[in-house]
Amino acid sequence: MNFNKIKETELNCYMPVFSRENIAIERGKGNCLYDIHGNKYVDFVAGIATNILGYNHPEYTQAVCDQVHKLMHVSNHYYTAIQSEYIKRLCDASGFSRVFLCNSGAEANECAIKLARRYFKNNGENKIILSAEGAFHGRTLATLTATDNAGQHRAYAPLPEGFDSFKYNDFDDFKAKLTSDVGAVILETVQGERGVRPFSNDFLINAYALCKSKGVLFIVDEVQTGMGRTGKLFSFEHFGIKPDIITLAKGIAGGIPMGACLASEEVGTAFALGDHGSTFGGNALACAAANKVLEILTDGGLLERSADVGEYFGQRLAHLSKYNFIKDIRGMGLMRGIQLDEKINAASFEGKLRERGYLVNVAGNNTLRFIPPLTITREEIDGLILALDDICASTNII
Ligand SMILES: *Cc1c(COP(=O)(O)O)cnc(C)c1O
Repeated sequence: MNFNKIKETELNCYMPVFSRENIAIERGKGNCLYDIHGNKYVDFVAGIATNILGYNHPEYTQAVCDQVHKLMHVSNHYYTAIQSEYIKRLCDASGFSRVFLCNSGAEANECAIKLARRYFKNNGENKIILSAEGAFHGRTLATLTATDNAGQHRAYAPLPEGFDSFKYNDFDDFKAKLTSDVGAVILETVQGERGVRPFSNDFLINAYALCKSKGVLFIVDEVQTGMGRTGKLFSFEHFGIKPDIITLAKGIAGGIPMGACLASEEVGTAFALGDHGSTFGGNALACAAANKVLEILTDGGLLERSADVGEYFGQRLAHLSKYNFIKDIRGMGLMRGIQLDEKINAASFEGKLRERGYLVNVAGNNTLRFIPPLTITREEIDGLILALDDICASTNII
């Protein structure tokens, strides 16, 4: 099919919510994508931090195909061995003792919010949820309410009640907002959609300690930062804290839709029979995929290897600070961003990189975001840096 036809059909048939790049992707191999004209791109987007094993990873693809032949889906009315194998592996690897499986990040956060409310409701208390300025937690009504997006809050009002927010990285404001009405705090250790913006170590450690002292649940949204993205299996491990609840999605099943909400024994048993559920959540296909992803990360050594490569990526990006229009270089592991001066259009940088065979995307704060497969190589990173350096050298602030 020719490109214009594909684009025209999208324009006419899809609800007009996405602004897409002018390429149509046909297939992937390793850490590269190929468009319908056969052009090759090294992929630093990875389906938004999702394709953590790249494309057509032999062991992963085999595990998925085997499961397709055996069984893809049955109702959660029944047990399956593959779901059992996976949840045991996930609990062992994470140190959490309870899990609920769903299909997306928004659903995982929705589950976390419901679980937190239910936990307090068991004591007859109505509690509210506190989220951060700059947060992104999803697009359901509740997760949108916890997301910092005034325009969308207006567009979808009336919103669910029981949410408040605190200023990014501002402990005094956090303290002031943590009233006795608050039951849980939800945050991302690094705000991906806001341009790879991390909270400071001090903020996270102090906020966590304050929540613990007040009996407030600490929820970390690891949908983007989890599954090895920041150099540890989960980003909270960098800070020596132990959240009550974490949420996962994106990379969890290497490209097959899945989300998860993990909790401590005490919190995770707050739901009663019938309180929550999902038709597709944790089906056999998703569990087989997620089980293989986690096995490759932990037993297969990918977690350590990708942490090393992530360090290397950080060092290489740091050299670009010589350009005065690069305002900031941020991130951890294989989640990196470079913020450009407002006078430079980050989208034009994205286009120039694409012409040179590299896919990146623009997140908040005029930031180029790099969230490649965890299998990305030093050579592929060197290639990107060379292309970036070349584009920077021919860029002038007007
Ligand atoms: C992507 C993302 C979500 C939403 O995930 P969906 O699968 O699109 O619903 C939630 N939180 C964070 C931190 C994310 O990056």
